[in-house]
Parts: sequence; structure tokens; C-alpha cells
Amino acid sequence: MLVEMLGTGDAAGCPKIGCGCAACRDALRGGRSRRARFSVLLRTGEGVVLIDTSPDLREQLLRARIPKVGAVLWTHAHYDHYGGLPELFRVQRRVRCYGTREMRDLVESTFSFMPLRFTTLEPFEEIELFGLRITPVPVHHPPLREPCGFVVIENDQKLVITGDTSIHIPQESLELMAEPKLLIADAIHPTLNFHKHMNATEALELAGMLGAERVLLTHLSHLYPPHEHAIKRYPLAHDGMCVALEATREESVQSQLDSYS
Ligand SMILES: [Zn+2]
Ligand SMILES: [Zn+2]
Ligand SMILES: [Zn+2]
Repeated sequence: MLVEMLGTGDAAGCPKIGCGCAACRDALRGGRSRRARFSVLLRTGEGVVLIDTSPDLREQLLRARIPKVGAVLWTHAHYDHYGGLPELFRVQRRVRCYGTREMRDLVESTFSFMPLRFTTLEPFEEIELFGLRITPVPVHHPPLREPCGFVVIENDQKLVITGDTSIHIPQESLELMAEPKLLIADAIHPTLNFHKHMNATEALELAGMLGAERVLLTHLSHLYPPHEHAIKRYPLAHDGMCVALEATREESVQSQLDSYS
């Protein structure tokens, strides 16, 4: 499985409109602080799974050279995670979608003009897509009722995506999330406490608690130092970053990208 970080920003993205902080200036100059809103792409030999439809989806799919998404899964019903769905309108015939009931109600009412094939996800119930076993695990992201993360297994490789969540993840979810090769964790701010997100310290604590082999922080706000400084201290993901899960390390994956496309 190839994991591609299509968007690593928080809801405002970076640069944030109207902000002149150091990270936003770096983003405006085209540095790695430039972060689109949240989406993650999973490629297998059998197909492409998109986790969340960022409002920046069109640019993201063009940049990643994705002609067609095999399936869309949503972590939760916040605009920065679903707002880009209509970018698939008139591009794909009938989009295969997976989300909780809360997600389904929102998407079907908001985008009623779009032909969708929606499957409702139940917490802890595994589905299989393109050779991946995917299990939604409830997390804690108030005031939403059904936010979830995903445990994704291919052969013996485990990937965990927390989605937006505070550190207060239910125990039953933590048990399923344990010992991933790669943990992709919400860490909106380096240190400040937010009641519905983790900060970097908490996300690293979670990685330690789960025994993650590697962690990447995402959903990053402009409140980090510019990326090249922040990366010395925190394992930040960046837009366009690819990780081949077999090797669990970032590498030049051009040859793999070519073989997948
Ligand atoms: Zn978010
Ligand atoms: Zn800023
Ligand atoms: Zn959210």
C-alpha cells in the first residue's frame, strides 16, 4: 500500500487568509508550510481509496495524477473533510462512498444533486476494499456524535489514521489501533490544549501508547514554526509526501507511482 498525504493542513489551511506569520509567509513563498486541507490517499495494486474529500480536492487529485477514485471514506462531518466532494461531480459517474450515519445524512442532504452509492459504516465493522481491510474506530471530536478514525490492514501491515480527535479516544478503539506500522495523527498545534484535537505532545504520547513504529503528524495549523524548523522537532507530514507501507519509510516512489498509474 502506498500512502499519500494529499493535504496536511487544518480547517483554515496554510497560508491562512489574511495572516502574515512566519509559517504563512513560508507557505506563500511555496515552502512546505503550504498545506491544503485534509485528505489521504491509499493506493493498492487494485484501486485507489480516498480518505476525506478536502475542499482542495481538485488541485490535490490533479497534483497526484489520480484520474479516478475507487472509493471515498469519511472520518467525520466537518467541512474541511467533506467540502470537496462536488469536485468529483461530472468527473466520475457514480461515486462509491462510505461513512457513518451522521456522515450519510449530511452528505446526502448537502449534495443531493450528486449520484452516490453510499454504504453506511458501523463502528468496529470491517469492510474490504481493493485488498485493504478497513475498520472504522470511534474517536472523540465533539460536538460530533460519530467521528471515527480508520484501521487499515493489508497483509500484515497496519496503518492507523486517527481523523480529527482529542486524546480521549475510547479504549475499545485504542485496542484495535495498537501496534501500527504507521500512525497518522491529528496534531493541530505543537503545545496548546484543544478540547477536540490533539496537540503534537499528545499525538506523540498516543504513538508511544499504541507502540507505533512510525508516526506522522497532520491536520497542522499555521501556528507551527515554518516547516523546515518545525520538522527538526516534530515528525510532520507535508503535502505530497508518500510512504510505501511495506518499507515504512519515506522514499522516492516515482517508480511505484508509475506502476500504479
Ligand atoms: Zn478538520
Ligand atoms: Zn499564519
Ligand atoms: Zn473536525
